[in-house]
Amino acid sequence: MRFDLSALRGDPGRPFNLSQDVDLPVVEWQGEALRVLGPVHVEATAVYQEEGVLLRVSVRARVRRTCSRCLAELVENVAEDGTLEVNPDEIAGAYLELGPFIEAGLRLGLSPKPLCTLGCLGICPECGADLNRERHREGCHGQTKRLDPRLAKLRELLDEPPSER
Ligand SMILES: [Zn+2]
Ligand SMILES: [Zn+2]
Repeated sequence: MRFDLSALRGDPGRPFNLSQDVDLPVVEWQGEALRVLGPVHVEATAVYQEEGVLLRVSVRARVRRTCSRCLAELVENVAEDGTLEVNPDEIAGAYLELGPFIEAGLRLGLSPKPLCTLGCLGICPECGADLNRERHREGCHGQTKRLDPRLAKLRELLDEPPSER
């Protein structure tokens, strides 16, 4: 997906539009290789101006992620619109290739902390239980809060080292 620079240059001020489904099966994000489900839908507009090429790129994609709290798989709908200025002197060749901008847009649109549901309870850091589906495992202190107060007191006593009593 690309714009022909000579066409842009030949008609300054006029917006050129492109709309295309682009194959980008994997996007690298913070050391992870995320799977992109189906093509990335891209809409792009370029205008040749005195200062440079004004480029607007919109990306729409579905990306496979894992919940940042419970690690469940989910599909994130990414929608990112960006505008930037490109110096035509810095473009090698006769075309303004959109590949790098599409990938950058996709990365920008990804949530830093995706969640399977807004209220995801996550995994207990102490006992490893998936709190969306199960209770804290036996012996976990995360359990104390929900225990009968008498049992909680008992637990406190049991957890105290003997030397301190
Ligand atoms: Zn989750
Ligand atoms: Zn726990």
